[in-house]
Amino acid sequence: MAKAKKKREERVGRAELSVRRTPELDFSRAQEAQRPNQRLAERVSHFRGSACLEAKQICERRRREGLPVYDFGIGETKGALREEVREAGISAYRESKTGYMDPAGIPELRDAVVDWLDLREHYSAENVVVTVGAKQSIFNTFAARCDPGDALFVECAPWVSYLPIATSLGIRGQAIDPLPEHQGPLKVTAEALEHHVRMTPRTKLVLVNTPCNPTGQVYNKLELESLLEVCLRHNLFLVVDMLYWRYLYDDQQFPVLTEEKEARDALILIDGFSKNFRGAGGLRIGWTVAPRDITQAMIRLQSHTTSGASTPAQYAALAAVTTPYDDEMVRELQSKRDLFEEYAAQIDGISFHKTRGAYYSFWDVRELFGRKTESGDTIENSDDLMNYLIEEAGVVGVTGTAFERDGYLRFMFHIDDETIREGLTAAKEAIHRLQRVD
Ligand code: PMP
Repeated sequence: MAKAKKKREERVGRAELSVRRTPELDFSRAQEAQRPNQRLAERVSHFRGSACLEAKQICERRRREGLPVYDFGIGETKGALREEVREAGISAYRESKTGYMDPAGIPELRDAVVDWLDLREHYSAENVVVTVGAKQSIFNTFAARCDPGDALFVECAPWVSYLPIATSLGIRGQAIDPLPEHQGPLKVTAEALEHHVRMTPRTKLVLVNTPCNPTGQVYNKLELESLLEVCLRHNLFLVVDMLYWRYLYDDQQFPVLTEEKEARDALILIDGFSKNFRGAGGLRIGWTVAPRDITQAMIRLQSHTTSGASTPAQYAALAAVTTPYDDEMVRELQSKRDLFEEYAAQIDGISFHKTRGAYYSFWDVRELFGRKTESGDTIENSDDLMNYLIEEAGVVGVTGTAFERDGYLRFMFHIDDETIREGLTAAKEAIHRLQRVD
């Protein structure tokens, strides 16, 4: 789109300008300090803010301006905390359980996590670290395994923060590109992993995300075991981000990977409170399950960074994981998935694989590239198409470039059925108005 392009050009122009300014130019120190690239560390200066949070801001702005909004943007489990969960947090405040605690987490929660993940046979509280959201679990994992200059691999369409977290630690993070002959949904295969690892010295770990944000795909036991085999052969850790593990559709089960000691020694599980429960994202509680040496290293690290997660929030999480799970939500999400896909299937020029878990649909929109809008702009990439859908139809999703995949768009469908129906109808009409150029 012309406006987006202009903005991009302005950004690029600014970047070029700052590169061209060399130290021999006569800047005073004060002026030097004003230059953004001098004030920021190289590692953080290129970060784009989270595109998912950007989508939330776009929706808020459009609502304020009285414009139509169909919000398929930020990935958030809608609804309020369950009463017993809320009460557990409130009681912790009332009982003044607010002093410094063990940085590893409150012992009751570390222990309860073992049962929540059905890992009692081989794990105990000693394998668990409670963190400030799953984000800190990822940070701890990367920091415990990798030195600056080491490499790690993440999903083919990685969730937005994996690579920035790696970069912030001086680690070379890379998404795994599917091999040219790859068919089917975007997933890391053993062959692709082997290929990438062989070409990349100092690789220390591989992270997969199942169910996956943004693709909605799920790895079965065989697929995970074949990745684990590659990891064991190359002395790598396999990190499984399973933050959405309760949201599996079509009667799938989360695979057990921990039967063999060799596997347990190379496996780190990342999970948390934010997604599998309603209204819990802001409580910022996550956890890792890992071998003891790694766990100990994470605890020491955490004792120097956050000193652990907020204690009352840990009591709320404890109540959440120890009360019977609300399976109704999974059924509700599966029927939303079906409704969403029924409407999306009526849109020409997009394709997608059935969502098998989590609450995202990841559309392949490459066929629409090159088409023209009524005002004569050409859709050249995912950002252009997302901007067009926002401006023309009020449909807000997240561009694939936020997940290292130009050619795709992500839509979150944990919203009311009416918005799904009306939003996808509006998206269909806008997409069908795009003109082919022969
Ligand atoms: N992993 C994935 C796949 C996620 O989608 C998210 C949050 N969107 C996180 C990790 C981070 O979770 P938290 O909010 O608990 O830090």
